[in-house]
Amino acid sequence: DKKLHIVGGGMAGAEAAWQAAKMGVDVVIHEMRPKVETFAHQTGNLAEMVCSNSFRSDDDEQNAVGLLHWEMRAADGIIMNTAAEHRLPAGGALAVDRDPFAETVTAKLKSLPNVTVSYEEITDLPEDGHWIFATGPLTSPALGEAIQAETGAERLAFFDAIAPIVYADSIDMSQAWMQSRYDKGETEEERTAYLNCPMTKDQYEAFIDALLAADKTEFHEGETAGYFDGCLPIEVMAERGRETLRHGPMKPVGLTNPHKLDEKAWAVVQLRRDNALGTLFNIVGFQTKMKYGAQTEVFRMIPGLENAQFARLGGIHRNTFLNSPTLLDNQMRLKSKPHIRFAGQVTGVEGYVESAAMGLLAGRMAAAEMLGKEIPDVPQDSAMGALIHHITGGAEAKTFQPMNVNFGLFRPVDGLKGGRRGRKDRYKAYTDRAKAEWSAWLAHFN
Ligand code: FAD
Repeated sequence: DKKLHIVGGGMAGAEAAWQAAKMGVDVVIHEMRPKVETFAHQTGNLAEMVCSNSFRSDDDEQNAVGLLHWEMRAADGIIMNTAAEHRLPAGGALAVDRDPFAETVTAKLKSLPNVTVSYEEITDLPEDGHWIFATGPLTSPALGEAIQAETGAERLAFFDAIAPIVYADSIDMSQAWMQSRYDKGETEEERTAYLNCPMTKDQYEAFIDALLAADKTEFHEGETAGYFDGCLPIEVMAERGRETLRHGPMKPVGLTNPHKLDEKAWAVVQLRRDNALGTLFNIVGFQTKMKYGAQTEVFRMIPGLENAQFARLGGIHRNTFLNSPTLLDNQMRLKSKPHIRFAGQVTGVEGYVESAAMGLLAGRMAAAEMLGKEIPDVPQDSAMGALIHHITGGAEAKTFQPMNVNFGLFRPVDGLKGGRRGRKDRYKAYTDRAKAEWSAWLAHFN
């Protein structure tokens, strides 16, 4: 079978199909809609935007997602090029007219002589052939079971309970300190995996009040099944009793505050290192359904986080995703069945743009492999590279949660450490470097 089979014609599947077809490979897209529906999709179109109509910031010099836009345009990406055709005025954001957008993506793909769309649900991982699974956050249950049978149940999650992630350099270390509970950990790396922020009784009480009062979002219909098993949102814990958090994720035991040796903290918020670079920390156990605005306000009440900058805010969503750091190789191939790639949100990226981006890489890599073309690894200093590197290797496998693209995933630029120059210069340096690296990588396909 000389065809590339792509399961799921969403953001990632549509982009993967376009890229592979443009390289000359025959592509079959297997899409279950409109025969089998999800609770979020409304149409049978490929590349349907299920919620917001925005691809977020289009600023390719100061914003990591804008940089991803740039890289996808440089690679003739169908999602970004079609978005430009249906753009709506939205300031610095790239917002589109969603139905014409998805209709045009569908029509463009169908007009290619080497692309066919087969409207059917795929429920198994095939034993041979060339496959990309891009079935997204709402992967059908039958396929989810087949994936779990292959990977082990604990390696495919159906929800993401996202704790907020903070840039390490925005944490006030004159209040916070580094220590693992009971000083556990064999290696220096393990012992420096945690940051702690102490609270007095008054601060704790005020924090609980703010949690209870904060604006929260509701679950979508059909979204909640099974969610209470794993991880409660912190505001639900607070509703169960004012002391619940102090006996749960905020327990003050096994920790000594070096800044205040004579005073025992009433509660402690712990943050855990989120990436190998040590640039990002997540707030342990702080998954939440608070609205984004409320989250920043409430979390900045935590001593040490007054000026915290968030790489991403917390959330709880229906989301099917793999533990990619353990399951996928650096080309997004399933290690146990390398003729199968995964792409899109199911690989543990988050968002339309990131999903399409991983589709772009998977489509190009699969086509290159089928055509016998040797392509070097995606450069880690491009936005594409920073993302794929994070999900397939850089992220901590044990606490792996879906990730948006952000500058915390980028390796520091030499000479720009320590904030000697402003953030603007740093971001400009990241994006300049990324564009050069990405352009050089793309040249290997010519
Ligand atoms: P999708 O775009 O969902 O595409 C997957 C495709 O696979 C679907 O067409 C599905 O029908 C198909 N499929 C699934 N199982 C099978 C099967 N077994 N056989 C054949 N086909 C199958 N991101 C944002 O950036 N902004 C938002 O506002 C936003 N809101 C969201 C709201 C909800 C309710 C959800 C669930 C997600 C939201 N996301 C949002 C995340 C968004 O879904 C992803 O960013 C993006 O759509 C994922 O792209 P994808 O290609 O991986 O998956």
